[in-house]
Amino acid sequence: METHREKNIIKIIMKMGVAGMAETGLSNQGEQEFGACEALSLSYEDWQEKVRAWNEPRFRADQITRWIYVQKVFDCHEMSNLSKGLREKISYELLMTLPILIQEQKSKDGTFKYLWQMADGQRVESVILNHGGYTTACLSSQVGCPLACSFCATGGMGFVRNLTSAEILGQFLMMERRAVELLTGKGNGINNVVFMGMGEPFLNMDDVFASIRTLQHPKMRALGARHITISTSGVIPGILALADFELPVRLSVSLHAPNDVLRSKLMPVNKTYSLSSLIEALRHYKEKTKERVTFEYVLIEGVNDDPQLAYEMAALLDGLEPYVNLIRYNPVPGKEAYKRSSETRVKAFCAALKELRIEFEVRQEKGTDIMAACGQLAVSANRK
Ligand code: SF4
Repeated sequence: METHREKNIIKIIMKMGVAGMAETGLSNQGEQEFGACEALSLSYEDWQEKVRAWNEPRFRADQITRWIYVQKVFDCHEMSNLSKGLREKISYELLMTLPILIQEQKSKDGTFKYLWQMADGQRVESVILNHGGYTTACLSSQVGCPLACSFCATGGMGFVRNLTSAEILGQFLMMERRAVELLTGKGNGINNVVFMGMGEPFLNMDDVFASIRTLQHPKMRALGARHITISTSGVIPGILALADFELPVRLSVSLHAPNDVLRSKLMPVNKTYSLSSLIEALRHYKEKTKERVTFEYVLIEGVNDDPQLAYEMAALLDGLEPYVNLIRYNPVPGKEAYKRSSETRVKAFCAALKELRIEFEVRQEKGTDIMAACGQLAVSANRK
């Protein structure tokens, strides 16, 4: 006859049998109680509450979060300044499930693309870019994406599920550990985070915001103010929520077309949130936060690269002090109808923007050879 504790351990092992595909830390599975809490989902206030419940001094919360978010030590038994008793309490109550690295690819320009597997077998990609001495992590917020932009590889995958805040932070921590090893060897980590990987971050707002709180908290990862950017296809409730968010986060909007007819063809989300309602939300965001908004515009040959559209764009964004990132379309398998704009067309589009006094840059492509560039992230076979 199994005891209650034995039954619990069997349940944990069953649970870990699924989760076992992912790298684990903090807990000793044999000691752990069923229903253990995922450590990466804890806020700083949650950690303080935990150490209070364990009758430990408050500074223990700072020590633990420093081990995890600064030192990247995920096994509590290696947290050498904690007492044995505290390590045991952590290991009994908390679970840390980190994504397992399935594949790492390096581009000739120094961009790295990672394929991660989550505890349930679902896979996402994320990217590390190096530019001007800074390292930027491009994180995914969903497995797939429901918004089906016609030019995007992720959109072609369909939607599987949202990532949890712990899974979002897991991507960051694992990439930062690799970044330190691979890129510098000097202990330098990631400087910037952009939510521009797989998925629409504003359709997973609670978990994206929770991960940002952890990344920016001075006692956790302490990523500097304004070093995080959320890129949205124009999900208005998210823009309004970001306007009220307590932390300074940059906003980038994927525009790709300056009128509703063309934009709805490229981005079906435009049928729900039209350009006029999007602009109204952005005016509110700008007024509330005093932040400038960046617009992404992918140039697709013969589709949205007519200089006339630059004039429409200038009229649409009038008063918003826009900064426009022009991106030459990156090839995506299965979307052969879409081609990157020729140099001549890019130049003509830029000339129009210049004449209109719209600030812009043509973004240098990164990681195109490993399909790590904008719109190219996709996972062909997500496991069930
Ligand atoms: S471009 Fe962004 S919002 Fe559109 S389908 Fe791709 S991931 Fe989703």
